[in-house]
Amino acid sequence: MTFWEELASELNRREAKLLRRTLQSVPDGALDLASNDYLGLSRHPEVIAAAQEAAARFGAGAGASRLVSGHFSLVEKLESALADFKQTEAALVFSSGYAANGGVILALSSAWPNRAIFSHKRNHASIQDACWRAAHDGRVRYFRDEARLRVQLEQEDEQHRKNMASSPAMLPNRKIIIADAVFSMDGDLCDLPALLHLAREFDALLLLDDAHGTGTLGASGRGTSEHFGLHDERIIHIGTLSKALGSQGGFVAGPRVLIDFLVNTARPFIYSTGLNPPAVGAALKSLEIIAREPQRIETLRANARFLAENLSDLGFEAPMQPSPILPVIVGDEKCALELSHRLLENGLWCRAIRPPTVPVGSSRLRIGVSAGWSDDDLARIIAGFAAQKINRR
Ligand SMILES: *Cc1c(COP(=O)(O)O)cnc(C)c1O
Repeated sequence: MTFWEELASELNRREAKLLRRTLQSVPDGALDLASNDYLGLSRHPEVIAAAQEAAARFGAGAGASRLVSGHFSLVEKLESALADFKQTEAALVFSSGYAANGGVILALSSAWPNRAIFSHKRNHASIQDACWRAAHDGRVRYFRDEARLRVQLEQEDEQHRKNMASSPAMLPNRKIIIADAVFSMDGDLCDLPALLHLAREFDALLLLDDAHGTGTLGASGRGTSEHFGLHDERIIHIGTLSKALGSQGGFVAGPRVLIDFLVNTARPFIYSTGLNPPAVGAALKSLEIIAREPQRIETLRANARFLAENLSDLGFEAPMQPSPILPVIVGDEKCALELSHRLLENGLWCRAIRPPTVPVGSSRLRIGVSAGWSDDDLARIIAGFAAQKINRR
């Protein structure tokens, strides 16, 4: 076999298991249920105009890495708006949320050679990839729930006490807990009060990836920490500009010293071109709109509640979540693909989510609810699902 034949046979193997992925363009006229554009801001006229103005004024691209070429003034405005939004001292933007997670996790790992990372088992792939790399020169453990995390933290401290007894010059054992604030395929929230409690008790940092909560949770959309009314200097906030903010890019928000440290050590920040001006302009405008029109968040919640209730009444397993993510769990890959195809015949675009993204046997459609949907859109979604004879409980 040639190189390429081997790749083709791997793809065929996936095809046979109904696990091959393909790219598709969103069909014209279909209502998009799959997007994370929760507040409908990516198509908001003011957001589009802000992107256009930023491109006209500063260019379509940023030109180089910020440490090489500096940055245009709008970036500082966005970073200070993000810091205000997350109620931290400072913020730093990255080219994506994926890059932000890798950047901060590996930078902190390098800061403390004797550190241990505790990462939730359901964390996003960007966190898992960074943890996998961090495991090459340090301790990384995975927890399923807070009870398990407590045991792991205790074990870590116990081991450290033993090490100290034999070599008293041992460095302190820094601990970093990492969790998705909203789990992306289920829509449920992490137990932030319990995680923060453990972080305080064991003197750990808490890295909170609020990709889905940013702009959607809390009275003013600040995210999961606002939802729980919790604030602490030991929380490092990760977010994305690419979901509710309707733009593209990622960010880290926290103490000024952390941000200064990342500018010096976060490789995806240092060795990658700065965020492009249209993305910066759009995100800044979205933050302004969210502050001005918090009722969008109310609408989002009402839409999510309406769909969860109606789909459940139709017999679908569509558990209501505090977030705008509504999973419709159907079981095997075949059922999920079939439901997705049939919904498309009804003008609804919602792709099947299959293993390994979700556990075997829990293939699903994942609806990203939007505040931008009209009553007609909501009725169209319910009618589309009602027309399905399959996949009911
Ligand atoms: C989407 C997502 C990311 C990645 O953000 P991008 O800006 O799309 O790269 C990171 N973490 C979580 C939990 C996400 O859902």
